[in-house]
Parts: sequence; C-alpha cells; structure tokens
Amino acid sequence: MRRNADNVAVAMVSFDGTERCAAPEVSPADRADLVRIIAEHQTVSIRGSGLSYCQAGAAGDVPSLSTRAINRIIALDQENGTIQVEAGCTIGRLLTHLVDCGYWFPVLPGHPHITIGGCVAFNTHGKTQHDIGQFSDHVAALTIYHPDHGEVGCSPTEHPDLFALTLGGMGLTGWILDVTLCVEPLRGRSIRRRGTVVENFVEAVAVMEEAESEGLHLYSWNDGNRRGARFGTGIVYEEAFVGHPAEPRSKYRKLDPVSRGRQIPIPLWNRMTTSVANRAYRLIEARRRERTMAVLDAAFPINGREGYFHAFGARGFREYQMIVPREAWVETVEAVRLAIADTRACVTLASLKLFKGQGRHLWFRGDGVCLTLDGPATRSTLRLFSILDRLAVELGAPVNLSKDSRLDAQAAMSIFPGYERFRSELERHDPARRIDSELRRRIGV
Ligand SMILES: Cc1cc2nc3c(=O)[nH]c(=O)nc-3n(C[C@H](O)[C@H](O)[C@H](O)COP(=O)(O)OP(=O)(O)OC[C@H]3O[C@@H](n4cnc5c(N)ncnc54)[C@H](O)[C@@H]3O)c2cc1C
Repeated sequence: MRRNADNVAVAMVSFDGTERCAAPEVSPADRADLVRIIAEHQTVSIRGSGLSYCQAGAAGDVPSLSTRAINRIIALDQENGTIQVEAGCTIGRLLTHLVDCGYWFPVLPGHPHITIGGCVAFNTHGKTQHDIGQFSDHVAALTIYHPDHGEVGCSPTEHPDLFALTLGGMGLTGWILDVTLCVEPLRGRSIRRRGTVVENFVEAVAVMEEAESEGLHLYSWNDGNRRGARFGTGIVYEEAFVGHPAEPRSKYRKLDPVSRGRQIPIPLWNRMTTSVANRAYRLIEARRRERTMAVLDAAFPINGREGYFHAFGARGFREYQMIVPREAWVETVEAVRLAIADTRACVTLASLKLFKGQGRHLWFRGDGVCLTLDGPATRSTLRLFSILDRLAVELGAPVNLSKDSRLDAQAAMSIFPGYERFRSELERHDPARRIDSELRRRIGV
C-alpha cells in the first residue's frame, strides 16, 4: 500500500486547476488492501486519473483512494464479445490490448489516460454518441464494493437498481471493482480522417447532420472568437475505418492535474494568442483535408496535444459543455455570440458533436448539439458561463458536470429533471454518506 507520509493531507486539485482541497491520498495495492483501508475510515473519496475538470475524486479532510493500482485486464470473452477489466485500467491501455486482439471499443473520451472507472462514473461519450450512444450503452456488468453492502455484482438483470445508479453515478455508490464491456470486431487497422471547412457554427451543424446517418465518427473544431457571420468558422471532421494498415506513430501520454501547467507561471492563452493560434490551426487543417492514421493514433485526438492544457498555467481554465436542442441551435448560436461579445471572454477552444438519446439522473445526455467552450480561469469567463447557465435552464439543456467546477445545487436542480430522484436513491443506498467528493458537496446530492 502506498500512502503519502503518515497519512498527511496533500493538495488535491481538479484538472481545470480551479478547485482545491487538502486530503490524504492513499493507493490500495489490491482488493484485500482496499477493503481493509475502507473499513478504517468512516468516509472516503474514490479517484481514478483525476482528469475530471472538477474535484470529483477528492473531498477536504477525507482520504482519497486511488484506483490506479487495481487495473488488471481480466479476460476477453470472444464468444460473447465482452471484456472484463478492473476499473483502474486506463482506456488507452484497454484499447491497445483490444486492437492487438483484433477488437475495438467504440466509446472513447478525449484522452487515453482516463480510467474505465471514471468513464462509468460520468457515463462518458466519444465522437460516436449520435450513432452508438455512450459508455452506459456498452457496459454488460459491474462489481461494486460499498463498506455497508459488501461486494455486489450487478447488471441490467442482477441488482438492476444499483447498476442504473452507478452508471453516471459520479463514483458515489461505492468502489467499482471491475467492469464487463461489450466489444466489437476491429473494422480496419486505420482510420481515414476527412476535414470539411465550414464558415460558421450553423454551417458546421448542417454538414454534420448530412454525414450523421453514415455511421461515422463526427466532431468539429471551431473558432469561437470570430465576430459576425464567421462566428464558429472551423473544420468538421469525419472519420471512418479503412483496411490498409498505417504505422502507429505516437505513444499514449500521461496527463495529470498536479503537473498540468506547473511549469508555466503566466498563462499563455489570451485573446491575442488565441486568435493567432486559431487562425494558424484553421489554415493548416484546411490545407490538410484528408489523412489516414493507425487506429490507435486516431482514437484520441488530444493525445500529444497536452501542451494546450499546460499553456493555461497553474491558474487554470474552465470548460462549458451543454447539449442544445437542435431546433434551438440557430438562435442559441446568436445568443452565445452576443454573450461572448458582451463579456469580452476569450474562447480558447470551441467544438461540436451531435447527440441523441434520453438522459436520466445527472447524465450528460440528450437530443441535440453538444457545444463545448473553453476559456482561461478569469472573471470574464465566469461572467460568460453564468449567461450560459441561464440559457441552459431556459433550453432544458444538460450541462456536463465532469467538465464543470462551478454549478451549485440550485443550478443543478434547475438543469436536471432527474436531480431529486438521483439524490433520494443515493441517500437510500448510502445514508451514512460513506463516499464523498467536493462535487457531491457542491451540488448537494
Ligand atoms: C483531455 C480530456 C478529454 C476528455 N474528453 C472527454 C470526452 O470526450 N467525453 C467525456 O465524456 N468526457 C471527457 N473527459 C472527461 C473524463 O472522461 C471524465 O471526467 C472521467 O470521469 C475522468 O476519469 P478519471 O479516470 O480521470 O477519473 P477521476 O477524474 O479521478 O474521477 C472521476 C469520477 O469517477 C469516479 N471513479 C473513478 N474510478 C472509480 C472507481 N473505480 N469506482 C468508483 N468511482 C470511481 C470518481 O469518484 C469520480 O467521481 C475528458 C477529460 C480530459 C482531461
């Protein structure tokens, strides 16, 4: 077992750098160790790679238990098309193993260092949400350990209530020991990525809607700092498997909240640097319309571009991600454009995905366009985000809690129709609040 010296609290920080607390960090070596440690404490937090933008895996004065050492890939069952893994395994390691065996997992969040436990806890999505849904749609079974209930296996047929509460349950139902995922045969050794230049956010969605029926991976990069008719000019990316192999080039990188931005004393992103970088990026990408990459290189477009996050420096950044109903897209784009102009906020990154499906509890799911906006952790970004909160409430647009470190209980209650049900089911499952996090405290569940 690894503990920081004498169980002394260390500074825990959210990936966006804006939420901090002091908590002892403990790393159980195996399941027996984990059970022993949990029994020693009234309350604990559970932490994967710490890549949630908010403080979802730590709470002040409560030991934060790292899942990272309990990370075996247990068994690939080719007959049933499933793989069982311990939840501390990263999605990048799992995917590398699957590709070696001729299989694929289709829901891939942006970075390979994210753990499977973290993906279950926030029901993460990838570039294929419009097509095959999100993580919860590909989980066949889970094993969960809670100090008051012991080890419980659950699935859609076995303890279905606990299964449903744990998917997207923000790690609050207990330690997810292992996860059985549905996998599919690998459809090609390479991925062809095509970029289409678009003039603005409205055109971007029109291009994406045309492509969405073709079963492609779809997402966009947009420039959110342009004014007028070119607001959101950018590139729509469509990706498809192709047969011929391409040589893999990059290794999967580590990313962690403690080292993010530590070497950068002054934030490098501001309106001027962002504007220059965005124009240069658009120019380069517009020229390079099509490329073919090995599947493992194409899987995580952010891998190798971690410098973007470091450049915010230790002061950090913020992200807003919401699902805008498609019928409200055009007027929402105009409202967001005006809000950015009024607040003079700097948008370092904007991006779109298409979403389908019904959310429950506090899930980030719905029918619409997933709009993502990043900015430095400044007052103008906060002002912009409070305008977006009002828009989200008006539109009934879900906000991604894994990417947000500001929303309070009142806002969460107004935004999520499933809030009260989630709160009461969680209270029944964990009345003594033996699992805690700063996120749980902030949103009042
Ligand atoms: C660069 C980057 C890109 C991203 N892209 C996407 C994306 O495309 N789509 C998307 O949906 N999300 C995305 N995310 C968000 C990320 O997927 C989630 O925040 C995810 O939960 C992070 O997992 P983690 O392993 O870092 O866990 P942490 O951040 O440490 O924890 C997240 C939650 O999981 C819980 N948890 C973790 N392991 C366990 C376990 N074994 N048992 C019980 N609870 C557990 C924690 O308690 C906590 O509530 C991105 C994040 C980054 C940094």
